[in-house]
Amino acid sequence: MNEQQLLHSSKKHLWLPFTQMSDYERDPLIIESGEGIVLKDIYGKEYLDGYSSLWLNVHGHRKQEINEAIRDQLNKIAHSTLLGAANVPAVQLAERLVEITPSGLQRVFYSDSGATAVEIAVKMAYQYWQNIGETKKKKFVTLTNNYHGDTVGAISIGDIDLYHRVYGALMFQSIKSPFPLIYRHSSNDEAFIRDEALAKLKEIFANHHEEIAAITLEPIIQGAGGMNVMPKGYLKGVEKLCREFNILLIADEVATGFGRTGKMFAVEHENVQPDIMTMAKGITGGYLPIAATVTTEKIYEAFYGEYEEFKTFFHGHSYTGNQLGCAAALANLEIYEKENVVGKVREKALLVEEELGKLKELSHVGNIRQAGLMCGIELVKNKETKESFPWQERVGYKATLKMRELGMLTRPLGDVVVFMPPFASEAGQLKEMVNIMKEAILQVTENN
Ligand code: PMP
Repeated sequence: MNEQQLLHSSKKHLWLPFTQMSDYERDPLIIESGEGIVLKDIYGKEYLDGYSSLWLNVHGHRKQEINEAIRDQLNKIAHSTLLGAANVPAVQLAERLVEITPSGLQRVFYSDSGATAVEIAVKMAYQYWQNIGETKKKKFVTLTNNYHGDTVGAISIGDIDLYHRVYGALMFQSIKSPFPLIYRHSSNDEAFIRDEALAKLKEIFANHHEEIAAITLEPIIQGAGGMNVMPKGYLKGVEKLCREFNILLIADEVATGFGRTGKMFAVEHENVQPDIMTMAKGITGGYLPIAATVTTEKIYEAFYGEYEEFKTFFHGHSYTGNQLGCAAALANLEIYEKENVVGKVREKALLVEEELGKLKELSHVGNIRQAGLMCGIELVKNKETKESFPWQERVGYKATLKMRELGMLTRPLGDVVVFMPPFASEAGQLKEMVNIMKEAILQVTENN
């Protein structure tokens, strides 16, 4: 197919996720190749990968060691089922994951995307209480604005009105506790905002703990809900309340895991030990769809027994624990060790913080939020009052479209521009991306 045929066919047959296809028809983009952190479309135009190919690419594209690991594995076997039979790289990766996750986490249950890892966490937490005879503990608490993926279980513990409202009748009810949002709070005292949110959670736990199975949260920074950083101590406070009221803590590290926030896992920032942790995205360096739900021996043991006891965890996907994916993940984690990847994230995050500081002078940049290399730039109509642009103006979307024109790819969350560069981005590339964002934001907002 030539370029015209590809474009035509993409408009005729593809249906892209989280995309209004009329937008795609107006401004189509077909990527053909990538090298390092640069992506190339079918016309040869190059783009810096400002969103890590949706928050997951780590070392850039075509990293030799990962490519080789996949090829080597392909010469052995591509896939065999994990239902009732282990495979070599899945065993090796499980051991590695147990080594790098917080010490209480000992058991690895594989799947293939962030949402499935979350779905598994929900069912695992639910069945855990059933299996040990605490049969009233069936409800889930989640934080306002949380995002955990798009399957029905994952949206039931999510709280993004735009994505979830339409499915209301499909979802099970979860209890929402307020996320400690800093930017638009009437107080600018972070400790106050933290304590207020913890007090509300405590009230929910105190009144309902007998029926609550677990709380789910995105540690340290809430991603798709707008890149909202938790006040210091909030996460630790939630952990303490979980222990006090016998409620499981599910940490969704799908976006934050594998160094994104400057620690291997974001829970490490506050030395928190979740009961269940979900991971995906960066696990293979962004190469293949592998995910994992990691849990404690205590939870695992509640499922262990003779078959007739019905304790078995009846969950699995055809491609669970795929060998190519596990081999890619092992090669990925080897590079983490060899190249001190997480340490470099911390260094680059400092540079990014300094560079992003230059955007503060723009009259429509209301707030810049950052945890490691996970950043959000909120565009507002009025900086003083923090008034948002009318959503119909789609300022965030227009700004990222302009960035594309200027040679950088990212996606907005409403009027929050996401900046999540691959960890392999060089200083010059990081600076160039910030300059592109500045120019695009200026061009799109200067008439407002
Ligand atoms: N949880 C979190 C915190 C996420 O950010 C995401 C994806 N952005 C998911 C779950 C879902 O992951 P996936 O897209 O791989 O299903």
